[in-house]
Amino acid sequence: MLRIDVITIFPGLFDAFVGESIVGIAVRGGQLSVETHDLRSYTTDPHRTVDDSPFGGGAGMVMKPEPLVTAIEALAGPKEPNRSARVVMLTPQGQKLDQNRLSVLSREQQLVLVCGRYEGVDQRAIDLAVDEEVSIGDYVLSGGEVPAMALIEGVARLLPGVLGNPESALNESFQGPTLEGPQYTRPAEFRGHAVPAVLRSGDHGAVQRWRSEQSMEYTRQRRPDLLRPPEGEKQS
Ligand code: SAM
Repeated sequence: MLRIDVITIFPGLFDAFVGESIVGIAVRGGQLSVETHDLRSYTTDPHRTVDDSPFGGGAGMVMKPEPLVTAIEALAGPKEPNRSARVVMLTPQGQKLDQNRLSVLSREQQLVLVCGRYEGVDQRAIDLAVDEEVSIGDYVLSGGEVPAMALIEGVARLLPGVLGNPESALNESFQGPTLEGPQYTRPAEFRGHAVPAVLRSGDHGAVQRWRSEQSMEYTRQRRPDLLRPPEGEKQS
């Protein structure tokens, strides 16, 4: 069972998300638990303040360190090498999330996801309490809740027993170095466009070969970067 705790000032955003589709299946199946924690309940002032203006001036507000560190430590304990929970801060400044990272995170016992808002989070909270910073792409959203949902859905489908057919996860884009190729379902012909004959041939070997070729061709056309050897491994 993977336990995920989400620290957010908008816990209501997760209400429908945790009950529906693959995440709902994982929660009902006992492979996943998702609990949201309102950051404001870790404040100590009557206004339940979670943000303040930035030192040095500038636009917007910054999330204060005290409630965040209190919340993280209440859920994960202090930041120590043997802490069993992994604390992940969603931020555009983090490492870009990919399938490999999702796979590693899906094998943790507990994830604590920290959703930023405003201009971001006081650096001391990150230094003192966060293990890892993760971005969902090179663009800026208004909060970490949608990025946290992307991460939760990405790990949920990797938990053993969650997908009806475990092979679906193995054949996906990014599972290997290539994208998955085109897919078709009924009807066999739609607006004059026929499904490739090989897919209706009943020849499983031929289907497999066609899918591999298509997968390679799709990757060459759409994401040639995936086929390049990583820096440092280039042939001279
Ligand atoms: N001032 C920050 C910057 O320029 O990098 C952006 C802050 S953003 C408006 C507010 C919050 O949304 C962030 O603290 C983060 O939690 C979340 N967020 C926005 N874009 C994100 C992304 N691409 N990946 C992960 N989290 C993101």
